[in-house]
Amino acid sequence: MYTTRFLDLPPLTHADGTVRLPGSKSISNRVLLLAGLCKGTTIVRDLLDSDDTQVMLDALRDLGCGVEQSAQATRITGLGGRLATRSATLFLGNAGTAMRPLTAALAVMAATQGGEFELSGVPRMHERPIGDLVQALRQLGCHIDELGQAGYPPLRVRGAQQGQLNTSAPMRVRGDVSSQFLSALLLALPLVTHATPSVVEVEADLISKPYVEITLNLLARFGVTVQRDGWRRFTIAPGSVYRSPGELRVEGDASSASYFIALGAIAASEGRCLRIEGVGSDSIQGDIRFFEAARAMGAQVASGPGWLEVRRGAPGAGWPLRAITLDCNHIPDAAMTLAVMALFAQGTTRLTNIASWRVKETDRIAAMASELRRLGATVSDGNDFIEITPPTHWRCAVVRTYDDHRMAMCLSLAAFNELAGAQPAVPVRIMDPRCVGKTFPDYFETLFHVAQTEPSNIPVIAIDGPTASGKGSLAASLAQALGYHHLDSGALYRATALRALQSNTAPDDVNALASLAAGLALEFHRGSPILNGRNVSDALRLENTGTLASRISAYPEVRNALHQLQLSFRRLPGLVADGRDMGTVVFPDAELKVFLTAGSAERARRRHNQLISKGISASIEAVHADLEVRDAHDQQRAVAPLRPAQDAVLLDNSNLTIEPSVERVLQLWQSHRPFD
Ligand code: C5P
Repeated sequence: MYTTRFLDLPPLTHADGTVRLPGSKSISNRVLLLAGLCKGTTIVRDLLDSDDTQVMLDALRDLGCGVEQSAQATRITGLGGRLATRSATLFLGNAGTAMRPLTAALAVMAATQGGEFELSGVPRMHERPIGDLVQALRQLGCHIDELGQAGYPPLRVRGAQQGQLNTSAPMRVRGDVSSQFLSALLLALPLVTHATPSVVEVEADLISKPYVEITLNLLARFGVTVQRDGWRRFTIAPGSVYRSPGELRVEGDASSASYFIALGAIAASEGRCLRIEGVGSDSIQGDIRFFEAARAMGAQVASGPGWLEVRRGAPGAGWPLRAITLDCNHIPDAAMTLAVMALFAQGTTRLTNIASWRVKETDRIAAMASELRRLGATVSDGNDFIEITPPTHWRCAVVRTYDDHRMAMCLSLAAFNELAGAQPAVPVRIMDPRCVGKTFPDYFETLFHVAQTEPSNIPVIAIDGPTASGKGSLAASLAQALGYHHLDSGALYRATALRALQSNTAPDDVNALASLAAGLALEFHRGSPILNGRNVSDALRLENTGTLASRISAYPEVRNALHQLQLSFRRLPGLVADGRDMGTVVFPDAELKVFLTAGSAERARRRHNQLISKGISASIEAVHADLEVRDAHDQQRAVAPLRPAQDAVLLDNSNLTIEPSVERVLQLWQSHRPFD
């Protein structure tokens, strides 16, 4: 398996269509925890499926909760406030929404029921502060050991059976580092609030209040009311018990919506519209207010329950975007998207009150400043602000993402630089694009579904060569490494041949064959060819299918009929196409053309091995002879004969296995790309 180390986004120009958002991370992980703590079974629909929710689900399983997942819903059977296991070691990745509340919940349960639990994460998690929460829990009487640096995970929480906690005095917690400390306490305290109320007092100004509102809202859904005096004092009523609401639907993630709101504001021009489904005017998430900020910058936003529609503002009124100065304390996560919108604004945008950015997945102020500068913007930053002036000269940049999903998602919008006046428009390389898996695993697929550009902007790598030269495997691995689509053009000829065999079409009935080719309903799902709804991988590889494919591919009518279909594979973000005439006829403008020249004896050996491994007996001599006939056929036909394009790089892979061949072509590709 090749992983996508970087993703090159070609210059993008427009956006149009509908996106459906994945579930909210903040709601998903709170609901999972509450469902895991309460009595009974909770059916959760539209749960976010991402790295952060995965670690929470794993933790719940380790703690003895029932977890059943199906395509329709996740069913959690909770502990009813009683520990099912007295010890566990929980790995929580980089999920603050798992680390903070699980620490608090396990600390109070271990302190009163006995037990010992260790909580750790990735190295960055061990740099994210938790000391204020630890101190607050210690005031209550919880035992917490800091196993690494004081004030940071990893932690061990422990206690003895029938231990006592002091819930009668108000607890104090700081509110200006992370609101998750307060949320964690509010989620944990109902487990130990019996005869008298529990009170939490917040010291210093509470940041990110909307996230605490989500906590209060969900506590209420699980039967616990919290009385709030301003943002300073929170009282949990005596006798609080978590009760499952039975069934609950997670709304779409409002922070994830911000990328598409920004996209609409930038690129949904001239009658286009970006419709966002899953989150809307009825959202309980604070980040929904991002749309007000986007409006202030010029976006036209309409909303209703569960949906938003965004268009670019009128020229001179909302476009180019207006630079703003904004206190972003109420939308800390979505505010990162404003920093990228600032690249499309006239003037300097200043985002203030964002000190919490420094303790998130990475130091987001430093990261954002450095990557925006790389694109050519002028940026100044301080402890709690960032100020951005758009580039006068856009640079073709390799953007680092710091293992931070939001960096990758935000900065992908820089690929629309043509709209900000970049001349020429430049591609943008996003490093480690899969980091979006933390909250939005399909982000790029979703983006490419609505983003548009000229087909000529979409890069193509053509891999041509004779039969059994290994071009199919090379192209597939290359496509995977680059995050590009793959066109196996031979499969199109083979599928046409298969349809001809199935319908008893005579091999010389050119018109009938061409109309089969023109109507070919062939798609690829995860690399497998699907013809009229059936997986035809094996049928396409049969010898008689291949022989007929070779024969009918000599007819210009068949080749023409398949031409458009092949062009339609040129989709964002790019294409690796393999065949005989990818570089010469179908994609003559391909940015890189490779022609494989493995000798026929070596190719015969490979094909022979393939056949043997499938249990098909064959003599190597016969395979060799057949291969040479096919080569001759491909080379001598009148249309699109097999030959290297003039500008193709010849690669003799006779002595190369697949991996070094892929590496070699990746090196060639790097040298063709405009990035440093
Ligand atoms: O590459 P593969 O063996 O799957 O291709 C099947 C047949 O289709 C080949 O024998 C070749 O003659 C034909 N073909 C072609 N042009 C392409 C791809 C395949 O003529 N671009």
